[in-house]
Amino acid sequence: MSTRLPSLEALKAQGKKILVRVDFNVPLDKDTGEISDDTRIVASLPTLEYLLQANAALVLVSHLGRPKGADKSLSLAKVAEKLKAYLKKTPIFFVPDIVGGEAQQKKAELKAGEILVLENVRFHEEETSKDEKVRHAFAQKLCQGLDAYVNDAFGAAHRAHASIYECAKILPCYAGFLLKKEIEVLDQILTRAERPFVAVIGGAKISTKISVLENLLPKVDSLLIGGAMAYTFLKSRAIEIGNSMVENEFLSQAFQIMDKASFLQKDLLLPEDHIVANEFSAKAKAKKTNDKNIPPLYMGMDIGPKTIDRYTAIIKKAKTVLWNGPMGVFEMERFAKGTIAIAKAMAKVKGTTVVGGGDSAYAVKMAKVAHKMTHVSTGGGATLEYLEGKKLPGVEVLLQTS
Ligand code: AMP
Repeated sequence: MSTRLPSLEALKAQGKKILVRVDFNVPLDKDTGEISDDTRIVASLPTLEYLLQANAALVLVSHLGRPKGADKSLSLAKVAEKLKAYLKKTPIFFVPDIVGGEAQQKKAELKAGEILVLENVRFHEEETSKDEKVRHAFAQKLCQGLDAYVNDAFGAAHRAHASIYECAKILPCYAGFLLKKEIEVLDQILTRAERPFVAVIGGAKISTKISVLENLLPKVDSLLIGGAMAYTFLKSRAIEIGNSMVENEFLSQAFQIMDKASFLQKDLLLPEDHIVANEFSAKAKAKKTNDKNIPPLYMGMDIGPKTIDRYTAIIKKAKTVLWNGPMGVFEMERFAKGTIAIAKAMAKVKGTTVVGGGDSAYAVKMAKVAHKMTHVSTGGGATLEYLEGKKLPGVEVLLQTS
């Protein structure tokens, strides 16, 4: 499907003024407010450099965080500064405005080979308004004075917001290199994965991953489950889980997924042992269990050594591995072993390895193996929705209007 996306090569960018929707929604350090990980900025560079080389003038629009109205701590000014460090030869301007007079004037003055970064688009509630007319009128102001629209914001493609959806209906629209690559890789593993295809799914809640599990099950050979969501699966089979995190409302769905797996003759694996703690704390009293059962008053914090051996052995034999969600509370070093082991095992796979964004993307960085993966997605919610089999509005609009 990605081949049908209108590509940048088809955009005769020479001398044009182009609105580029980038995903500069970068994590910020809680204490200093500084950018703690600039992966998303770096990921936008191929598209920006390509358009600059074609002598286009670029107006960049993005959101950052979830502001309710203008919020200085979420200003894109710091992102513009970071961008300057990567594109040293390019004049880069920032304007603390989005669709007002100052922004329109700067857009009009912008010359070929220059970049203008607009302020956080979510400072205006019109961006996310439920009213299509409101969103469209706002998008028209964003597009004012510009010749084309490029969407390279995969991480926001699951939202039908003004700068993602409406702008594509107003200007000739194209997919940036990052958006195209993300869709290409996910599409390939969902439709033409080389076998054995192993999916490793972890994280806190089964409720946020149930649709992903249901969509993946018929496509994979093995599904390896970790993280807190494993305890809901274990409890659904009457295994003792002590004080572990559990979603009791999802016990029957977990049971059904396991039933479906055996009906489809797929291997759905659950942890065989655990690292458990007497409280949710880095200083807790911790120990490993001998088997699946978790003793009373203890909670599961990570997969245990037997599970690590079993899961990594399966991963090593795979030709395609998709990973989303940590195996344990990896933010605490003592409970990060399972998650790091998965990252390292994936790094040794001779085949396609895809990390589905969010915490798993952070974990492969922690394990220093990000560069060994075929692809580390920049999307969190967008990746999950694509893996659920849903259509992403930001992608659909490019397919429909091109
Ligand atoms: P998610 O956003 O659903 O992928 O969940 C990621 C979060 O799951 C991380 O913050 C982990 O700390 C958390 N997590 C993983 N395993 C456990 C566990 N055994 N108990 C509590 N939280 C967990």
